[in-house]
Amino acid sequence: MGLLTAGRPLTWKDSEPHRQRVKSDGITQFLHAYEKVRDRRRPMLKWGDEVEYALIMIDETSKTARLCVRAPEVIEELQVAEHLQISGESSDIIVETLWRPEYANWMVEGTPGTPYRSFIRDLTLVEKNMALRRAEIQGLLGDNELVLSLTAYPRLGCKQFTDPPKPVYGKYARSFYTSDMHINPHPRFRTLTRNIRLRRGSKVDIHMPLFMDENTPELVPVVCDECDPGCVMPPEEVTIDDHAYQKIEDACGEKKDDVYMDSMAFGMGCSCLQVTLQCTDIGECRHLYDQLHVVAPILLALTAACPAIRGYLLDTDVRWNIIAGSVDDRTPEEAMGKIGKSRYDSIDLYISDRKAMIPDIYNDIPIAVDENAYKRLRDGGVDDLLAQHIAHLFIRDPLVIFEDHLAQDNETDMGHFENIQSTNWNTVRFKPPPPDSDIGWRTEFRSMEVQFTDFENAAFSIFIVLLSRVIIAFDLNLYMPISKVDENMQIAHERNAAESGRFYFRRNIFGEGPHKVPSFVCCCGHVHVPKFSWPSEFDDCGLPAEALELMTLDEIFNGTNLSGPNCNFAFPGFIPLIRTYLHALGTHADNQEIISKIGIYLDFVSDKANGTLWTTAKWMRHFVETHPSYRKDSRVTEEINYDLMQKIDKLSRGEIEIPELVGSYFPKNKAGLNSAAELEKIRQEVGSTDAKLRGASLFDGTIQR
Ligand code: ADP
Ligand code: MG
Ligand code: MG
Repeated sequence: MGLLTAGRPLTWKDSEPHRQRVKSDGITQFLHAYEKVRDRRRPMLKWGDEVEYALIMIDETSKTARLCVRAPEVIEELQVAEHLQISGESSDIIVETLWRPEYANWMVEGTPGTPYRSFIRDLTLVEKNMALRRAEIQGLLGDNELVLSLTAYPRLGCKQFTDPPKPVYGKYARSFYTSDMHINPHPRFRTLTRNIRLRRGSKVDIHMPLFMDENTPELVPVVCDECDPGCVMPPEEVTIDDHAYQKIEDACGEKKDDVYMDSMAFGMGCSCLQVTLQCTDIGECRHLYDQLHVVAPILLALTAACPAIRGYLLDTDVRWNIIAGSVDDRTPEEAMGKIGKSRYDSIDLYISDRKAMIPDIYNDIPIAVDENAYKRLRDGGVDDLLAQHIAHLFIRDPLVIFEDHLAQDNETDMGHFENIQSTNWNTVRFKPPPPDSDIGWRTEFRSMEVQFTDFENAAFSIFIVLLSRVIIAFDLNLYMPISKVDENMQIAHERNAAESGRFYFRRNIFGEGPHKVPSFVCCCGHVHVPKFSWPSEFDDCGLPAEALELMTLDEIFNGTNLSGPNCNFAFPGFIPLIRTYLHALGTHADNQEIISKIGIYLDFVSDKANGTLWTTAKWMRHFVETHPSYRKDSRVTEEINYDLMQKIDKLSRGEIEIPELVGSYFPKNKAGLNSAAELEKIRQEVGSTDAKLRGASLFDGTIQR
């Protein structure tokens, strides 16, 4: 979850005199870095995924499956190889996986050891690397412990939802449901928790709609969900606030008509799947940032995996609004006034400087900027849009300031800039290169919910990489007014949006008008000529180029051919576009085998989008609703949850099939892998200079018209 500086964090009060300075130094640092890296070019795609896992403790006697809070010690063991490599103690160590702490003590984050590169053969490494990650975690767990790639634990916040249970109402979160002892011990995390609460002047206040079943009561208790009033977990420190325990007891009598949550752990304790892409240069990076933002709600809906939390079925399918609420540090005045969104939310501004981006049409929501930052950025030679982007990030306060890291060399350090940058958690992130590294400009895609199996997570990661190639190679224009992307974010929350939701989407996604799909030259030296078969003639009915249509995910992914009384409208669909792109690359026989393997992932995504396969949320909801003990009361009981966690575990190991969720794709195509050495061998082949082994390059180079 971003920057993990070690040090002594200041309290919110003590950080007050330093906050402006940190922001001002952050801008100075950005300006120095920008000067050094603005022209940096890295004409080789590099990319990587991030998967967040949850640890679960099974108790067969009591039939419970609770979150296991042993992640910090597991992460320490997982990081041994990396530490040995960094320290130079062991030269033959192979680091194919990297591990990072996340917010909650049940969470582990894993990434590939080195980023993938641009060759199509790299794509065949993704699922194997994910399998290795899962095996490495599993190898450190006890017999009763499971590792699941689970977006939201359905009973997060119920009484005794962790093993061992922890006392609630600690001094950092003051939550009725979660404990400060659930927060990762790195000081950044608890300081964030406390300072968000202090800055906004109250606990975070999250309300999600309750799913109403036949026997669901109109109002549900705020605290005691399965027990008599008064028997919540004991508070951690009754003495910190004389009224603390009383507050919980008062809340016990209270009821609400929605599912209320009151701490950062509800959102930041959820898991997600992210993909970071290195771009050729800053221009491509800005373009991809914009284009991928449009796609963010679409992928959020397709990967939906959060139908329940706090033991209740929700009337929504995704985590986003929960996590946005869980770190919303705005004061009531800010929220009512100039600052429209939480620090964790969709972006407010497109930033590309290309012709296709028409600010007057597309940047249609008011954005607040830090005026001082904006002026300094403009004076420092940063163009208007980029200056607005950075100055918009800088409307936020630094939430964690380390006393021992206040003094930085603003010409070389980026710590104060990163402080603000890494606590703006948006759908996409624009990442400037660290000046002292070899890294290029990067865009991070952040909206996806994590899926149960490596196969699914690999499929969605690969899909995003290939979509990014298509966007660049075919010069796609996905722009729509940014307010419409916000509407799509809310549509993505609707129950079963993947099947029945209709999303705003652009009718004509080709920059140069219908049918003008450009050929492209890649670094293999060949000109690739895509041959595209349209469902029918495109007819824009005289509509402006930027006209939008309401489309289903099936139409957006698989294409559509709508005939109305007055016009035909054909939309090619992401999957056919990607196949066309791969086809254009794959004329060489060596690539065919790899491309047909990749095709299986695309078939899977296509089947998800056309409803043949259910979303994870739909399947989980169905599991709960058809469980023999379900009382049609929207409750995910310990018993239902226990069976659910076991089933997900068996699926992720490839021991069972769940056809509704993964069809016959998995475990049939499961990539097995148990050792880093095995992966290293394959990776060496991929790294080979022999084009036969590594396959064609996905990099597109220039576009020819
Ligand atoms: P975060 O900002 O989310 O903490 P990290 O910098 O830790 O992100 O990296 C996230 C992802 O970026 C990982 O999947 C990693 O493999 C990938 N990555 C690392 N270096 C590069 C690079 N040069 N280009 C593209 N992706 C990279
Ligand atoms: Mg993370
Ligand atoms: Mg990330």
